[in-house]
Amino acid sequence: MLARLFRLHGLLVASHPWEVIVGTLALTVCFVSMNSLSASSQMCSWNECPKAEEKIHSSDIIILTVTRCMAIIYIYFQFKNLRQLGSKYILGIAGLFTVFSSFVFSTVVIHFFGKELTGLNEALPFFLLLIDLSKACTLAKFALSSNSQEEVRENISQGMAILGPTFTLDALVECLVIGIGTMSGVPQLEIMCCFGCMSVLANYFVFMTFFPACVSLVLELSRESREGRPIWQLSHFARVLAEEEDNKPNPVTQRVKIIMSLGLALVHAHTRLAAEHPGHSRTTEGPVTKRLEFGGTMWSLKLTSMDLEQVITLGLALLLAVKYVFFEQTETESSLSLKSPILSSSTAQKPRVAGDCCNRDLPASKPQKTINCIPVTSPPSPDSKLSPEAGTVLADEDVTQPEVSSVENGPCVSFSVGSFAQTPCVSQYNSNSEPRTLEECLAILSDPQRGAGFLSDAEVMNLVTSRNILNYKLETVLETPERGVAIRRELLSPKLSVPSALDCLPYKGYDYSKVMGTCCENVIGYMPVPVGVAGPLLLDNKQFYVPMATTEGCLVASTNRGCRALSLSGGCRSRILADGMTRGPVVRLPSACRAAEVKVWLESSDGFRLIKESFDQTSRFARLEKLLVSLAGRNLYIRFQSHTGDAMGMNMLTKGTEHALHRLQLQYPDMEVLSVSGNYCTDKKSAAINWILGRGKSAVCEATIPAKVVREVLKTSTASLVEVNINKNLVGSAMAGSIGGFNAHAANVLAAIYIACGQDPAQTVGSSNCITQMEAAGPLGEDLYVSCTMPSIELGTVGGGTNLPPQQACLQMLGVQGTSPSCPGENARQLARVVCGTVLAGELSLMAALAAGHLVKSHMIHNRSKTNLSETTSSKSETAA
Ligand code: NAP
Repeated sequence: MLARLFRLHGLLVASHPWEVIVGTLALTVCFVSMNSLSASSQMCSWNECPKAEEKIHSSDIIILTVTRCMAIIYIYFQFKNLRQLGSKYILGIAGLFTVFSSFVFSTVVIHFFGKELTGLNEALPFFLLLIDLSKACTLAKFALSSNSQEEVRENISQGMAILGPTFTLDALVECLVIGIGTMSGVPQLEIMCCFGCMSVLANYFVFMTFFPACVSLVLELSRESREGRPIWQLSHFARVLAEEEDNKPNPVTQRVKIIMSLGLALVHAHTRLAAEHPGHSRTTEGPVTKRLEFGGTMWSLKLTSMDLEQVITLGLALLLAVKYVFFEQTETESSLSLKSPILSSSTAQKPRVAGDCCNRDLPASKPQKTINCIPVTSPPSPDSKLSPEAGTVLADEDVTQPEVSSVENGPCVSFSVGSFAQTPCVSQYNSNSEPRTLEECLAILSDPQRGAGFLSDAEVMNLVTSRNILNYKLETVLETPERGVAIRRELLSPKLSVPSALDCLPYKGYDYSKVMGTCCENVIGYMPVPVGVAGPLLLDNKQFYVPMATTEGCLVASTNRGCRALSLSGGCRSRILADGMTRGPVVRLPSACRAAEVKVWLESSDGFRLIKESFDQTSRFARLEKLLVSLAGRNLYIRFQSHTGDAMGMNMLTKGTEHALHRLQLQYPDMEVLSVSGNYCTDKKSAAINWILGRGKSAVCEATIPAKVVREVLKTSTASLVEVNINKNLVGSAMAGSIGGFNAHAANVLAAIYIACGQDPAQTVGSSNCITQMEAAGPLGEDLYVSCTMPSIELGTVGGGTNLPPQQACLQMLGVQGTSPSCPGENARQLARVVCGTVLAGELSLMAALAAGHLVKSHMIHNRSKTNLSETTSSKSETAA
């Protein structure tokens, strides 16, 4: 019942963050203004309050010093613990904000009640000790493990349901205990305890309202990065921040540091001013003037008359601040740089070879110790060295030897060489200890100080089997995605008919943060596919080296020959004829006549304008160009066609279409949306509509090959090529009833480029629509004119698989990765031209091989599996023997 109440409260706060934030701020302003209205002589400002009793005993000084030191160490550890959650940025800001806002609230509340703030200096350390960020962090952790805004709300409300009752009870108990002090009769203690109570209440108020609202809002605002990717994952968030700043110091971190330093400096300056010039600061008449008069001497006096207590406190604060700001910052930066997928894949997979150019990034290959999967001190490794004899990098002994952290209840051993970001955390329980009970494991998992890093793999597997951890959430729960993948594989292997089946499917050293929530779910590894290069392809007077990922022998070699023939012929020329992705939903009206009415409205200029307005709101790049409306009985099929910038655009179109359909429903409330895709798009299925009207990029490419090149490079004649082309690509395909398949093997070339460049491989279905035409040309009719027309090339250079680093590398080979700097969409169009040009090269070469009768011969040489053949042969001979 109570949990349900808190859940509802959490849901309300998370789904109305603006209202809650504005409401809380308004309430604060109200308090402040009421305070200033009711200001009386009873209330005094920070520096003007008289102190109750001035005689400070040496025992007081000792107690004060110890308290202050404890407060500083406590706060330091609180912030250090935030790092275990994987992001010091967002949680650090949130934590700092909580402390700060609680402090402001308390001050305001105390003012409001007319209490004196004379004990504020002494109360501050006590107040800091009352702040507990762990629950705030746990709530943030709940929110940050979500993959969508809906999940954020759901997880915040769930977090509230779990944490709310405990936190309420804690606050109540703390208030009651501290409240006893207000009855002590000692004025100074009474004030401090009163302040403490108010702080606990204010902290509670902020935790219940402001904090969840802020977390929800921050996540909503940062929902999509510039790359168009959700950035829930903490590591991802940190990397995006780091990347976006081009490795400049992060302004957010800088700001946090500055605020922290300023805060500490202010507290100390104030302590000194207030403590050592009581007579002056307590003067009610003209304190400011007097302070100015004595200002210079005051400060010099302060500096010379520092007592032991102040020196200790200040020294400790400075020491910890320096450690936190500089020392730990260096570690994090190195961890971020190590998260570079290229480095991580090269370092984590195998030992480095001496002389390998990768060894230049030696700092990244330094052995790193990790405890609980968080990098700890990474000592300069003079002993970590390249072994000249072995030619490999040898790691420090103490790194390769697992190191046990002595943390109570949760020894977690881990080690790594190079990329610790990808290193699974290995616990001693893996080999030696019995798994702990589910209850114990759950307690460790939900403890923000420990978490999944303190569980062994076997224990995590138990939690998955008992559905306390959902299998598909392993990566997010474990915080090191690679460990999640490893455990999923372990869970899966025994269920397979060949339990060792996954042994040869690699999974280490891959940057899964770019996959999660974007490219693949339930990940068990990655599939390495060989990538070849064809080229240079001379296209529109520019040379391109085309990456092709394939396992079909001959394909790259053959395309390369086509590229060579084109280069020797002065290259090929291309044009983009149309550019527009489509989505075709199906809606239903009560009658065919009513459906016809809707069709007429959609085709009217007013109707189109309203629908376009609604569609265009959903993206910075998608712009509705056309609506094609068809009717079947009372069903209406509406083909939305839109520019999509550099993205292939399917998600974009779906989002825009859905929004536009809501607008249409306002106009026709009796309309029912049957499906946002009614196959009228048509996506990933063969369809005449794409062949005839086009989809994505429509491109054409042509070339004239001199007779000499036809003879010497393609080893055939123009006449033979033209004849084969007519009878195979035109008549043959017509006989087969083909739609868009008037070519030799456009899909072959296209699929290889698509896989290399991170395109959606299923879209090879429509994208490989192509008609190849060949004619005799030149004065003697011996030259060859060849063209390929491809009306529906569906591709992009941002979004989907193009966000993955290896795929981005292939796009970079072509100079088209990401958003076009000159004009959004230009990169994608250029890629379409390259695809069309390479298809032309592939067509030339294969057609020549067919015309010359070389196909079977070359496939026997390059494409036959020698391994299998020899195995078969030897086994046959063994049998015969
Ligand atoms: P997307 O990643 O979903 O959307 C592109 C994102 O990149 C948008 O957020 C866009 O901003 C942003 N962006 C940044 N710079 C851009 C630029 N220069 N040009 C265009 N957009 C830019 O990608 P998508 O192409 O729409 O969808 C591709 C994914 O959809 C693939 O993973 C594919 O496999 C999958 N797919 C989905 C369906 C489906 O039915 N939903 C069907 C087939 C394939 P804005 O937010 O401002 O638009």
